[in-house]
Amino acid sequence: MTCDHPKSRNAKMCRACNLKAMWADPEFRARKAAANAQTLRKLRTDPAFVERERARQSRAVRIMNASPRKTDPNVIARRGRTFSERRMAWCPPHLRDEYFRLMKNKHLPALEARKVIEAHIRDEARRNIRAIEREQHERQRREIAQAY
Ligand SMILES: [Zn+2]
Repeated sequence: MTCDHPKSRNAKMCRACNLKAMWADPEFRARKAAANAQTLRKLRTDPAFVERERARQSRAVRIMNASPRKTDPNVIARRGRTFSERRMAWCPPHLRDEYFRLMKNKHLPALEARKVIEAHIRDEARRNIRAIEREQHERQRREIAQAY
């Protein structure tokens, strides 16, 4: 594999594309996961590490508990809305239920469901254009009829 990004001499791919390609390889991922698990197993036999980790985690819990606004239902709801507004920006709000229905009830993968919705969006656009054209023709016809 090669890429067209700026890269060091003799390299086939830039650093970003190379990393992406490496992490796309299931064997590489498995090797990394095994190495991480082994490191963690070894660290857990070290009392100093266990103590440090316990202190770090209880610090994190204290920080989380000190900011109750993050657990406020209104804040959680707003965060959900902001998230779907960004993630779902491609999908008009009135078609979102249908998109989720396709995935949940029809078991379509997200990409397939999105294609269905996008075809629907195109259909709607075509229908709207035809309706506008009909309206314009109708108005012209009335104007011509009134002129006499
Ligand atoms: Zn690249």
